[in-house]
Amino acid sequence: MYVHSHSADLGKDIKMENISLEAAVELLQGHVALKIESETIALLESTGRILAEDVLARHHQPPFDRSPLDGYAVKGEETSQASRNEPVILTVIDEVCAGYVSSRELMSGQAIRIMTGGPMPKGSNGVIRQEDTNEGMNTVEIYKGIKANQNYCYAGEDYKAGQVLLEKGELLSAYHIGLLASNGITEVPVKKKLKVALMSTGDELMEPGATLQAGKIYNSNLYTLTARLTELGCQAVAIGTIHDDIDKGMTLIDQYVKDVDIIITTGGVSVGKMDIMHPIFERLKIKRLFWRVQVRPGTPALAGLYKDKLVLALSGNPSAAAITFELLFRPVLSYFNECPNLNLIRVTGKMLEDFKKKSPTRRLIKAYIEGDKVSLTKGNHSSGALKSMIACNCFIDVPAGSGPLNSGDAVQVILL
Ligand code: AMP
Ligand code: MG
Repeated sequence: MYVHSHSADLGKDIKMENISLEAAVELLQGHVALKIESETIALLESTGRILAEDVLARHHQPPFDRSPLDGYAVKGEETSQASRNEPVILTVIDEVCAGYVSSRELMSGQAIRIMTGGPMPKGSNGVIRQEDTNEGMNTVEIYKGIKANQNYCYAGEDYKAGQVLLEKGELLSAYHIGLLASNGITEVPVKKKLKVALMSTGDELMEPGATLQAGKIYNSNLYTLTARLTELGCQAVAIGTIHDDIDKGMTLIDQYVKDVDIIITTGGVSVGKMDIMHPIFERLKIKRLFWRVQVRPGTPALAGLYKDKLVLALSGNPSAAAITFELLFRPVLSYFNECPNLNLIRVTGKMLEDFKKKSPTRRLIKAYIEGDKVSLTKGNHSSGALKSMIACNCFIDVPAGSGPLNSGDAVQVILL
């Protein structure tokens, strides 16, 4: 179980306001004694899961010395002088294909016909390419020789028995899974999926499928976040889409807090009349970790601890919700899963176009990076807009107090 050193502060009622993104992340990581258990699952079920333990190789790969070519296993030193005009002629004593083992031992003047993947016969130390011979059956003419140990694939040259094949914390993808299969592994220990409750708030919200009424909009945040959590290997649980109804919000949070690891809500965190998350925090006595993060969009993000679980209340504006979700939740997810690959990565890029606005507050701009060239995603960039999230593969991180950005400027970019 991981308990962060800050957990001694758990009892304090912390009221941090208007803090930096980095301070907010530290508070989130530091105030939860989150224990992510592991489970063993079938290898083929493990795509997108996080390895919970180091996996050691059980055997060498390849398990035996083998031929990298179709040709003839020989004693290399006996062939080194061979040429088209003066071929070396050897007696072919056996044939070995991939999957079989020759029982013969190669003596001086002999060769064994061998196919790619075939185990190297005893006494041989290299393979002549079939193309450099007359492909003879009983005897073979060799037109181009090799040295000893040439064209030879050693047991364990991919990896050795006992080596760490994969380290814990690896996010498993196709090649990890293939690598584990190459070692005969059928089951893998992975972290249990983090269970994240999602609650959407807003009198204006309707679920897709219903007929849109005057003044209403469809709830997109629930869908964005559910899909994103799935992509990130978490289990999303939709606990409800509610009106700006304090009692209902309190009931849902209280009802689900025991069953999930984290609760994420959207909407109702600003200073409007219907911003219900503040009274909910007060009345449930959710210990506030912070409110307001020095970043746009998503400034009014609110976070607290309730019954030892994290409650992360994000702005309802679709882009703001998405951006603060990435910036606040990803580092937490990565930290508690001990999985660096789930965290955000920063790189430096170069602007391909201008961005006209000044940034008195730190600003995150939806962008697309290719190589080190950074362009804004197409479409409206207000925090209520969602279409500009399409093709977004990074955010430009513009420091507070910056002027407009010009084409060619170096910028800090946070990769998604
Ligand atoms: P709020 O954070 O509640 O002040 O909402 C800010 C803006 O985001 C408003 O325009 C809301 O209508 C919109 N909004 C809130 N929740 C959602 C949601 N789940 N899906 C789409 N838009 C939302
Ligand atoms: Mg609202």
